[in-house]
Amino acid sequence: MDVNIVVMGTESVGKSALTVRLLTRRFIGEYGDIESIYSHSFMVDGREISLNIWDSPYSEDSSMETSLFEKKVQWADGYILVYSICDRASFNSVSRLIQTIKSTKDYLNADKAPIVIVGNKRDLHHRRTVLSEEGRLLALNTDCHFYEVSAAENYHSVLMVFHGLVDRMKDAKLTT
Ligand code: GDP
Ligand code: MG
Repeated sequence: MDVNIVVMGTESVGKSALTVRLLTRRFIGEYGDIESIYSHSFMVDGREISLNIWDSPYSEDSSMETSLFEKKVQWADGYILVYSICDRASFNSVSRLIQTIKSTKDYLNADKAPIVIVGNKRDLHHRRTVLSEEGRLLALNTDCHFYEVSAAENYHSVLMVFHGLVDRMKDAKLTT
């Protein structure tokens, strides 16, 4: 099964860190500003799943062109929307992004692709400005899923995000 995932969120929330962590198991600290689609395969229940992960340096919330945004929505089978638990503005941005995605023509036409909200940088709890409950509540109100993770310190938490999303896409694809 081939699945396309887009990773979105404002600058510096850790979109590339999460992606690279999944692909290499490592946290390298600094990531360039490259627009890239990465491929990664793994086995689930004896089936090979090929993930294509679109990571980009833009913040979909502001600078991005509408046409590119729509292209992403059209391409995606699933979404990972990232904020940093130390960055309130990035959380507000995720909240707006959900509304934007859900009102996009291509999203409405497709079998609603699952959206996962990810609060990253959990290791920086002393600088936290967004409570876990706020993330959980946003997910509840928007019919999304929610995880808090640390790309820096917890590989397993990152794995859960991607595997959780794939599980949901698998269900969606199998029931259509
Ligand atoms: P992007 O712009 O969303 O792709 O963000 P990056 O992946 O480039 O990360 C931005 C900065 O945050 C980098 O300096 C990363 O090292 C740092 N970073 C990313 N994830 C974490 C995390 O889980 N914990 C901490 N402490 N720093 C992180
Ligand atoms: Mg990046």
